[in-house]
Amino acid sequence: MVDCVICRIVAGGIPARLVHQDDRAIAFHDINPQAPFHVLVVPRVHIPRLADLDDEALGGHLLGVVRKVAADAGYEENFRIVVNNGDLAGQAVGHLHLHVLAGRRFTWPPG
Ligand code: 5GP
Ligand code: ZN
Repeated sequence: MVDCVICRIVAGGIPARLVHQDDRAIAFHDINPQAPFHVLVVPRVHIPRLADLDDEALGGHLLGVVRKVAADAGYEENFRIVVNNGDLAGQAVGHLHLHVLAGRRFTWPPG
């Protein structure tokens, strides 16, 4: 059993501001938001990073949840998804999560 902050949130052991939950995924507000709207979409099962995801249906489902949480908050026209995969890419939490950011202008290239 891995000691994982996102598994703990999924299990209800750590409180989070949930915006979506279903049988395969949940979504909740990031504790350190980088935009007015910053939600993490995560699979319920422990998958360390995107490179470990081998379930195409689950990947598609996560993208659908991204669209839903953005639309539910009124941001269906302008939002950004970020998935950090690996240390060099900035991944700090080892459970796959899709950042959904909205509510301000974003620049490119990312830092
Ligand atoms: P990463 O850098 O791994 O792509 O992103 C991890 C994200 O998880 C960060 O944005 C961080 O603020 C968020 N985070 C870390 N611990 C917690 C927590 O206990 N609760 C919530 N809601 N977010 C967390
Ligand atoms: Zn986990």
